[in-house]
Amino acid sequence: MAEPERVIGIDLGTTNSCVAIVMNGAVHVIPDEMGAKIQASMVSFLADGSVVVGNEARHEQIVDPLNTIYSAKRLIGRHYSSREIKTASQSFPYKIVKGKNNVPLVEVRGERYGLPEISGMVLRRMKDIAERYLGGTVTKAVVTVPANFSDTQRQMTKLAGQLAGLDVIRVINEPTAAALAYGYGRGLKATIAIYDFGGGTFDITVLQIRDQVFEVVSTAGDTYLGGDDFDTRLARYMLHAFKHQHGLALEGDAFAFSRLKHVAEKVKCELSSKSRAVVNISELGVDEKGNHLDLKFQIDRDDFSERCQDIVQRTFLVCDDALSQAGMRADSVDGVVLVGGTTRMPLVRHMVTEYFGREASTDINPDEVVAIGAAIQGAALEQDHFAPGGSRRPAPLLLDVTPMSLGVQTVSGYYDVLIHRNTSIPCENSRTFTTGIEDQTSVRLQVYQGESRVAAENIKLGEVELYGLRAAPRGQVEIEVTFEIDTDGLLIVSAKDRETGVAQAAHIEVSAGYTAEEIALMLERGV
Ligand code: AMP
Repeated sequence: MAEPERVIGIDLGTTNSCVAIVMNGAVHVIPDEMGAKIQASMVSFLADGSVVVGNEARHEQIVDPLNTIYSAKRLIGRHYSSREIKTASQSFPYKIVKGKNNVPLVEVRGERYGLPEISGMVLRRMKDIAERYLGGTVTKAVVTVPANFSDTQRQMTKLAGQLAGLDVIRVINEPTAAALAYGYGRGLKATIAIYDFGGGTFDITVLQIRDQVFEVVSTAGDTYLGGDDFDTRLARYMLHAFKHQHGLALEGDAFAFSRLKHVAEKVKCELSSKSRAVVNISELGVDEKGNHLDLKFQIDRDDFSERCQDIVQRTFLVCDDALSQAGMRADSVDGVVLVGGTTRMPLVRHMVTEYFGREASTDINPDEVVAIGAAIQGAALEQDHFAPGGSRRPAPLLLDVTPMSLGVQTVSGYYDVLIHRNTSIPCENSRTFTTGIEDQTSVRLQVYQGESRVAAENIKLGEVELYGLRAAPRGQVEIEVTFEIDTDGLLIVSAKDRETGVAQAAHIEVSAGYTAEEIALMLERGV
């Protein structure tokens, strides 16, 4: 019998990425040539035309911010005119430009790149790390995405994998992967919460584990709440300290603030392991005589914690939402798994313990837990059975939910929901549409994801055009359109004529997407 193919699990993070694999019944988090198990999700374009990716690019980010792309995951699969792209354009040092069809592109050293290409370069780096470690080619991967990723974001992540020369055999949600890493092969019967506090986002997911069955009960998140908020808070405090020391306000100085944010992040991380941090920032400002002014700053952990409690408190509002959707209370959860770099903060751990009335599990590294889960799922898909220790077990059954409602715009501009948020996937639902005028041969449906009653306030996924309809008096042609969300969380649309039962031709145009030709060109070029 042929050996099953090796499948790597990749956590493609906003800030960092990680790759893991199951070998001989054990999970290995794969280190790079320097021994690092975590890579910065960054790509830097150097002056000599070469490109560096991962931790090497992190160093470039400090010296060459204009040509170093980070946080591509925040931008992938979004419209150029979306709020996220607007915010990023104002705050990121690199250039984001509008491409055809409302697609955002990054412009570096006179070249334009799509976000799937940037993420593809990060995935290529993870593939290379795995291949070097394993001494052979790897072509298959399970890649994780945030639970709240829309259809377009998932599609674009899959495309990034393809560009990296990977066959993405499954896209799974990060919290589900974390739950697998926590509970697979342990024969648990428990309700657990995955508390994921990263660099820019917070997510909470409630799951039920019944031996090999992992069922997501509810999920909620805040895409503007993360480690970055602590950095900003601390940087503002530093500005205040500077004013106090020198009587000079630097509020409008963007460069000084970006320097302070860098330092603030370091101070924040230091305070996770030390009780006090001291920094000296040279030449932060200039007084009216032209003298350079430094900032001497020190802070202890308790003071920092006190200043940031409200940020952590905001995560519990999101937890309340997820728990109430699950019909549960915080203290009825059997286990809490921490994911993401921000959960290293003692303040966060302390407040999480208070909120849930129990200590969170700290057995698994919060930076590696998602990649470990992806590797377990990959092994299970390819080999059918795996368990820590090498014993044979059935593959896990992941019962995930769709994070956003899916629906179509009505004539009056409202939003008709076809699949509600938190419905288990795969799932499907149908609606019948009729023609509104005589001999109408086509119908266009605008498809959205989101929760607002007004269609336009949601994320537009695209348009479905039903064409070549039978010519008939108005209202006589009835087309049943089925919206299906598959195991990757991706949308599939099909349609049929209700009277004749004949499949109806449908053209799906992804909004803010690439055309088929553009994708073909990108694939030909690779990354
Ligand atoms: P992630 O998106 O999971 O990679 O998390 C990145 C965030 O975690 C960034 O805001 C980091 O500053 C933060 N982070 C990483 N390590 C630590 C640490 N030791 N203490 C506090 N925050 C950390």
